[in-house]
Amino acid sequence: MDPFADTLQRLRETFRSGRTRPAEFRASQLKALGRFLQENKQLLQEALAQDLHKSAFESQVSEISITQNDINLALRNLQAWMKDEKVSKNLATQLDSAFIRKEPFGLVLIIAPWNYPVILTLLPLVGALAAGNCVVLKPSEISKGTEKVLAEVLPRYLDQSCFAVVLGGPEEMEQLLEHKFDYIFFTGSPRVGKIVMAAAAKHPTPVTLELGGKNPCYVDDDCDPQTVANRVALFRYFNTGQTCVAPDYVLCSPETQARLLPALQSAISRFYGDDPRGSPDLGRIINHKHFQRLQSYLSCGRVAIGGQSDESDLYIAPTVLVDVRDTEPVMQEEIFGPILPILNVRGLDEAIDFINRREKPLALYAFSNNSQVVKRVLAQTSSGGFCGNDGFMHMTLSSLPFGGVGASGMGSYHGKFSFDTFSHHRACLLSSPGLEKIYSIRYPPYSPHKLRVM
Ligand code: NAD
Repeated sequence: MDPFADTLQRLRETFRSGRTRPAEFRASQLKALGRFLQENKQLLQEALAQDLHKSAFESQVSEISITQNDINLALRNLQAWMKDEKVSKNLATQLDSAFIRKEPFGLVLIIAPWNYPVILTLLPLVGALAAGNCVVLKPSEISKGTEKVLAEVLPRYLDQSCFAVVLGGPEEMEQLLEHKFDYIFFTGSPRVGKIVMAAAAKHPTPVTLELGGKNPCYVDDDCDPQTVANRVALFRYFNTGQTCVAPDYVLCSPETQARLLPALQSAISRFYGDDPRGSPDLGRIINHKHFQRLQSYLSCGRVAIGGQSDESDLYIAPTVLVDVRDTEPVMQEEIFGPILPILNVRGLDEAIDFINRREKPLALYAFSNNSQVVKRVLAQTSSGGFCGNDGFMHMTLSSLPFGGVGASGMGSYHGKFSFDTFSHHRACLLSSPGLEKIYSIRYPPYSPHKLRVM
């Protein structure tokens, strides 16, 4: 018995009927999604607190507001985005009309992770609906509180004939991915991303893969340590470090490390108090499996700050590790928790070499008072996104594409990039049924005269 077949059949039929194509219908769905966010803000904040101990502030700024802004942007620009794009022509097509039509793919599948379970589920949905697709939404089964709200409340707002939420873990997903979709948008780990891509290849289906990785953070000797520490600590410990674009490790000289450590201690104490465990602004680790993985990292190198943990509360203190070797477990995979290793390098060249010998990260950070240093890191490395002298603020701009490169993913979204991702860019040429005399120059026999004209 296939639990998904009927739902997918229903959505496919809706798409074929053309119901989701008109701008008015797309706008009605986007407005309904906006109403869902507004009317259930409290419910979502409670679910996020239940799942991740997320503060109302973090829930608002990093989950709800950005999604609402993207909805508003799509509503304001929908007509313009949908418009055919006229393109330049060559001599042979001067009398024709040439344009790119943005048409919906059809039935799209969106698979989301647990760490920002509202925005990472709904932001791709904004693009998919704006582009006129039917959507199957798969929230993470790990963030159970949010999954429940998305599964039970969201469908009451959206048109059920073209939208469905499906639930499940790896087993159910394997079954779901047997089906053919017209587009798959996946956010999650590189391991599962490969499984999704392999399943998509069978049909074949285009994919966007928003994956993770280790995001380097270079700190130059020419810097104000307290400013750098404030910013690195904010973005490392935001959402308890469970952020795909968080600075994963710091690269700096031993001298800069010595200046950075007291500054990081000061930032952590100011942000979360002397006992961060009591802070309402510090979340918890999502589950025991991830807690145990993170706890094992605490024996890498030497704990310079923090290091306390309590499994009964899924608590890990904001931690800084020093004397870490790049062969230790904490440097082998994405940390995804409130632990920041500092590795020593002798200057910018070694830092750039260190970064370039590893997989291309989702984000890369460089801190320096010298703009030439920041520009060199930017010019001589590659990553999905880059931010000089700050944490992941680049991803708050809907005017910038958000996505990875190489091992950190393929494709991008946010703002208009989401609309484009979920639209097939169809190449169109409309020629005249008449003017045969002019067009006949293309027909054989090919005389020397025709060759000269063409
Ligand atoms: P995950 O890969 O374990 O799960 C993501 C989704 O895939 C979930 O909905 C899960 O149910 C589903 N899934 C699990 N097994 C599957 C299978 N066999 N086939 C198909 N789907 C399957 O990731 P996670 O633990 O939820 O999230 C953490 C990871 O996501 C980290 O690596 C992080 O860097 C990454 N991430 C990336 C971004 C980004 O925007 N690039 C954002 C957030 C998280």
